Amino acid sequence: MEKRVCSICSREIEIAPATEPDGVFAGWQNVVLKDGNAVCSTCTESVRILYPLRNSKTFVESGSRFGYIETRGKSSPKKGWINALVDPLEELTLEEFKQAQIDAENAAKTMAARFPGARAAAEADFTYRHHTASARTNHKTLYSDKKEYVTCVKVLFGEIRAGDTVSIAHKDREYTAKVEEVWFWNYLDSPHRAIDKAFAGTTAALWFHQDVPFIYPGDILVVKEG
Ligand SMILES: [Zn+2]
Repeated sequence: MEKRVCSICSREIEIAPATEPDGVFAGWQNVVLKDGNAVCSTCTESVRILYPLRNSKTFVESGSRFGYIETRGKSSPKKGWINALVDPLEELTLEEFKQAQIDAENAAKTMAARFPGARAAAEADFTYRHHTASARTNHKTLYSDKKEYVTCVKVLFGEIRAGDTVSIAHKDREYTAKVEEVWFWNYLDSPHRAIDKAFAGTTAALWFHQDVPFIYPGDILVVKEG
């Protein structure tokens, strides 16, 4: 770990050594910008609305990842898919980051103006039921009948935390559901890590302990003020 100071808030931070990129989200990291300046993860939160993490999926030859294959005495690296979470902030200079903070504040205001009375809004992607395998009998997996549904979303503005109630307005009525857990979702794989909150620019999974048949892809989930 390398000790640094955040160029925005002057907080002392640690920079993790660089690792081979993969699609696994290990929590929000402190970032080293293109010009070598460091920014703490808290200061990067506000600009994610404009600079979300990107996930790229690439088919590559990689001996270190997938091993080698022997063909007629010749060794060549095996091929496979590599997911990589890419942080676009690493391409910014400190000046550009400061501009991004101003632009992000405006973007958040513009987005919030679209949803009066809301302190957060997210757009729904797909919803699935999470089954927990409870036992195996006669080679059949038994699934729990616990109601656990997960909706993957992109947060448009504000923050969503466990305990929040989201409202979904449809033509006939308004539906609500309580968020039990918030997980990070990298867009390509299943959500794999709980996070304390999802904020603007984050793709996340919201867990419900109830059926949510009223949430369709493209629906806006709103957390109301107060
Ligand atoms: Zn900072």
